[in-house]
Amino acid sequence: MIPVAKPQIDEAEIQAVTEVLRSGMIAQGQRVADFEAAFAEYTGTEHAIAVNSGTAALHAALLAHGIGKGDEVITSSFSFIATANSILYTGARPVFSDIEHETYNLDPDQIAEKITGKTKAIMPVHLYGHPADMKAIREIAEDHKLTLIEDACQAHGAKYNGKKVGSFGTGAFSFYPTKNMTTSEGGIITTNNAEVAEKARMIRAHGSSQRYLHEMLGFNLRMTDICAAIGLVQLGKLDDYTAKRQYNAKRLTEGLQDIEGISCPTIKEGCEHVFHQYTICSSERDKLAEYLNQNGVGTGIHYPITIHRQPLYQELGYTDTLSESEKASREVLSLPVHPQLTESEIDTIIDNIRQWSEDK
Ligand SMILES: *Cc1c(COP(=O)(O)O)cnc(C)c1O
Repeated sequence: MIPVAKPQIDEAEIQAVTEVLRSGMIAQGQRVADFEAAFAEYTGTEHAIAVNSGTAALHAALLAHGIGKGDEVITSSFSFIATANSILYTGARPVFSDIEHETYNLDPDQIAEKITGKTKAIMPVHLYGHPADMKAIREIAEDHKLTLIEDACQAHGAKYNGKKVGSFGTGAFSFYPTKNMTTSEGGIITTNNAEVAEKARMIRAHGSSQRYLHEMLGFNLRMTDICAAIGLVQLGKLDDYTAKRQYNAKRLTEGLQDIEGISCPTIKEGCEHVFHQYTICSSERDKLAEYLNQNGVGTGIHYPITIHRQPLYQELGYTDTLSESEKASREVLSLPVHPQLTESEIDTIIDNIRQWSEDK
């Protein structure tokens, strides 16, 4: 089976972790500080605050911006559940706005009508590694004095008009093993706002900036030096990984673009797509997935149920109709695009889809 995701851990990561373990300093320490400095530099932001998951990064980012009970945050329903759950954790209410068909990202034209007197923030998701329309979304945020929090958990290194995502507002990244780079579990917040950075650091450590002095309610969201050591090595390889993903995506599109009934991912002008997922769209998605799985090609569905249709959100009373999000949840199919894919595996994926299309 060609897996849909495959984290790459080499001798360098093993060496780096071993060094930390031998040092005896295994919780948050110098490696975390080094990783934060390196990641801030990579994204072109002034501050980076490492935490123990992407979910924690979203949660702490919202809290650091003072978002809580009574507030509304506009986001996408076509995302991983953590996007909206992080808003629920703060006591605020996620308000879902529909996506654009082309990129599966928030449609800027539909955001304004969701803004109420309670709206405090917009949280676009750079889904699959394709940047959301940051020019339009940032303009809406500025016009209405709203905070911009980017869910960049799938978009390490993606660029919009030459600028890396996570640097437009406050960014949140995940380092889960299937993401474009990993620390095992882990996440990071990026921001140019010194006050938000300081608050996020406090929230990460029980509301404390000084040992045993607690000024606010915080959590234990710390990253360990073991994880940061992996992250430092992975960050050094990220651009190579990305180039490989982009090459694999190009090969897949060349092989698939003329097949009827399938649409390949598009890249909007001014955007650099980092292909966390290579996601095609077909009205016969389930049949195609079954065929591919039977023939040794792993696939993924990101995501089969929109967030507002999840039982949790149904129970919370969400009754939205978001036609593009719901259509996408029925039609998307992610194919393997990870950096370890071989030329012959790419050919196998293409040949199988071609065969399926001819047979049906
Ligand atoms: C992975 C992911 C998250 C959560 O990250 P974790 O590290 O798994 O907590 C949030 N949002 C999106 C869009 C993701 O893909």
